[in-house]
Amino acid sequence: MNPSKKKNLLTVAGLILLLLACVAAVELIFMGLGEAIPNQGRGSASQSVQTELPDQSTPAAPSFCPFCGEGLPSTFQWGQFCPYCGGQVEA
Ligand SMILES: [Zn+2]
Repeated sequence: MNPSKKKNLLTVAGLILLLLACVAAVELIFMGLGEAIPNQGRGSASQSVQTELPDQSTPAAPSFCPFCGEGLPSTFQWGQFCPYCGGQVEA
């Protein structure tokens, strides 16, 4: 029986346990990050939905001028002036 060999085996076993503990700790950290990142993504997604909702709730720009009845371009927005009669088309 060589006592130094036994000590080496114990240190090797201890190192393996340390490595396993480190791997487990890193996995736990990454699991925590993985759970935190989707939560942040959901938060920003809901925020973007909230910022998009007002645009969807605002009435669509008119396709026809209420003053002269001419068709307005698709880029026309409320508050702009009719390119045909010059009337300001307001909601
Ligand atoms: Zn007009």
